[in-house]
Amino acid sequence: MTYVIGEFKNYINGEWTEPHSGEYQEQFTTIDGSSVSKCAHSDVEDVNAAVAAAKQAFETADWKENPRKRSKALQNWANVLRANINELATGLSWQVGKPFKESFGEMMGAIGYMEYYAASARTLYGSNMSVDDVTLSVLLREPVGVIGVIVPWNYPITLLMRDMAPALAAGNTCIVKPAGQTAGITMKVIELLGQVEEFPIGVINAVSGPGSVVGDALTGHPDVDMIDFTGSVGVGKTIMRECADTMKKMTLELGGKSASIVFADADLDKALPNTLSSIFTNAGQLCTSASRLLIEETRAEDFLAQLKSRIEKMVVGNPFDSNTTMGAMNTPQQMETVLKYIEQGKSEGELLVGGERILSGGLDKGCFIEPTVFVNLPQDSALIQEEIFGPVLCVNTFKTEEEAVELANGTDFGLASGVWTQDINKAIRVGKKMRAGTCWVNCYNRLFNECETGGYKQSGLDRAGGVEGINKFTEVKHLCLDYNENY
Ligand code: NAD
Repeated sequence: MTYVIGEFKNYINGEWTEPHSGEYQEQFTTIDGSSVSKCAHSDVEDVNAAVAAAKQAFETADWKENPRKRSKALQNWANVLRANINELATGLSWQVGKPFKESFGEMMGAIGYMEYYAASARTLYGSNMSVDDVTLSVLLREPVGVIGVIVPWNYPITLLMRDMAPALAAGNTCIVKPAGQTAGITMKVIELLGQVEEFPIGVINAVSGPGSVVGDALTGHPDVDMIDFTGSVGVGKTIMRECADTMKKMTLELGGKSASIVFADADLDKALPNTLSSIFTNAGQLCTSASRLLIEETRAEDFLAQLKSRIEKMVVGNPFDSNTTMGAMNTPQQMETVLKYIEQGKSEGELLVGGERILSGGLDKGCFIEPTVFVNLPQDSALIQEEIFGPVLCVNTFKTEEEAVELANGTDFGLASGVWTQDINKAIRVGKKMRAGTCWVNCYNRLFNECETGGYKQSGLDRAGGVEGINKFTEVKHLCLDYNENY
């Protein structure tokens, strides 16, 4: 069976525009390898045209001074996505192989960001201060300008909206650079803009193509005021270096290697199913995945036996079968990367379950890997220290609270963490010691539009979501008024 999302040119200055190269690139699904979309293979010329359109719109359109219009535009676009949610979620599952229910959830997450920031557009307060008896200081929040929004492939729609919605709500104009593997579904969402009349021409532009060309051209362009990047640490570092040349603002949401700590007094009936969902959602291709589990030694044997039994009952396969609990890897390249880590793990630790690519049951043309658990890998193993970004859980034991904290914090990442205990004092104590942007207590991956996420250490700069998630797309202007009449 095949499914076609569509064929897309670039969206520049309100027009679907042929790429300068005249070339297109196909995207193939990881369900069965069939072609699902075709998108423009763009170059620097296309980026220049999109930046010029976004700059013109920022300077002249009825946008940056009109928060009510921005609010209505975002809300109406959200309404259009909601009206088309089944088609979009189906396309998303075909594009990246994740189960339909997860794609539906991703679309709902994206719509949630649009609605939350549609409201925020009208409540973007500055502040003021009576500095002395003749001076009033007014601090305004103004848009930064033209924003390059660079998106990864694992959650191509939620992560697009998590950042583009607040950027627009704050009055900026945008150029979207989708990930190559998921450009089709991103462009489909952009195409639905045609049903929303409130966006002035040039406020939103989208250019597809290789990151090293299109992303790089955006990062280096003198008329782009800010880069909003979600992706890997390696590319994040490149962007950080390149932004220095034009002193661009940037926000970086990068990778993770998060640990969940399960203490002996944890409610295992809650911790066990959450352990599965916190690593196997989107086959482990989630930045906040709890890819490490630290279990108190006294409960380890019991916990691991139950974990193994639950994993053996998981159903990996067709994203459109409601019994499926885990889908495909999002890209063939990512599957190869993960399989290499698994081979290394087999020589360094004990394989509890899984460990192979799935080729039976009609899945041989797709990119499916068994849910995999390793036990007792050394702390300096690449599987513990590096982001595998796949369905691979690494379990280690600990004896004391201090040891658990040290192991959890013992990587270069700091995106998220989890603590499982019924002792509230311990939960607060350990939660505060986690060097991570989020610590979930007795839950995991509870992500809300209203609440910030982001990284400590090499997991990034800034926060996405919530109030911080819109404030970062503003400049603070100090308007200083002297009302002294006695000179
Ligand atoms: P990636 O860094 O390879 O690519 C991300 C985007 O950057 C893509 O659109 C790509 O085309 C573009 N790009 C590549 N080279 C570029 C360059 N030189 N200049 C500008 N842009 C360039 O990441 P990925 O493989 O698409 O995504 C997976 C990574 O993203 C993982 O590390 C994951 O943890 C991370 N991620 C982080 C978050 C978060 O919120 N912290 C969310 C999702 C994913």
